[in-house]
Amino acid sequence: MQVIRASMLGYCMGVRYAVHLAYKASQTVRNGRLYTLGPLIHNPYVLRELQKQGVEILDEPFMPSDLKGATVIIRAHGVAPNLEALLVGLGAELVDATCPRVKASQMKAKTFAEAGYRIFLAGEKQHGELIGIRGYAPNCLSVEDPSEARSAAETLYHTDPGGKTALLGQTTISAEEYHRIGAEILPYFPDIEIIDTICNATKDRQEALKKLCENADALVIAGGKESANTRRLLAIARNQNKPAWLVESPEDLPPEAGVYSAVGLSAGASTPDDLIDQIEKALYDLSVKV
Ligand code: SF4
Repeated sequence: MQVIRASMLGYCMGVRYAVHLAYKASQTVRNGRLYTLGPLIHNPYVLRELQKQGVEILDEPFMPSDLKGATVIIRAHGVAPNLEALLVGLGAELVDATCPRVKASQMKAKTFAEAGYRIFLAGEKQHGELIGIRGYAPNCLSVEDPSEARSAAETLYHTDPGGKTALLGQTTISAEEYHRIGAEILPYFPDIEIIDTICNATKDRQEALKKLCENADALVIAGGKESANTRRLLAIARNQNKPAWLVESPEDLPPEAGVYSAVGLSAGASTPDDLIDQIEKALYDLSVKV
């Protein structure tokens, strides 16, 4: 069997940075508790490894009333400034692992809001990234899809047609969807400033997988089952009519993966390098057994 890796797979820059900061904190924070605010990333393997290093997960709804002496790592999605202030007020020291791209979106939202713009914010309303951005621009209009964008624009046009407007998007929204959302708002606000906040990390992995599908008989996607971008990779592979499996660990590999002569290997943006290596090795071992 030949295992062919996608030309782009695994950790994106923001996740690599966040995991690096978490391990670094686990080495340097010797006294006191060390938390991440929510799971650092959607990958159970990494979360288990961090737990072994003493990194616990702080559940926002069950925040302790006292965090004196504790260190809290802000994950790549970022958080709203009032939540940061709350943590500091409870006595926590913060390690900011917000992805620089998300940080840039937060700052753009803040600048536009302070300049009096009405901001449309495109993406999944309940996603941590957008909750954090709304903290910088509390009056922004969240829109999940083109039809919602159209009705929000229509309502705003009828209630308050004057003034400047801007459109920002979730870093992982698809370019096509963002374009469609912008197109629905434009007839109402032709001068709207459409800001490119899209991160190409997700798109790059998807494009690399599509290319890989041309040369592979079957596909293995390494990553967490809770990771939306990993599940999207699986769907892409299956849409190319290839047998494909999502595996969180080498143990998840189905025996039939060993019968193919060319197996493509891709991985979501929260899958670490060593786990990808382990899964590749297990695939070769599997082919020897069948
Ligand atoms: S997908 Fe892009 S924006 Fe999100 S964490 Fe990774 S690098 Fe940052």
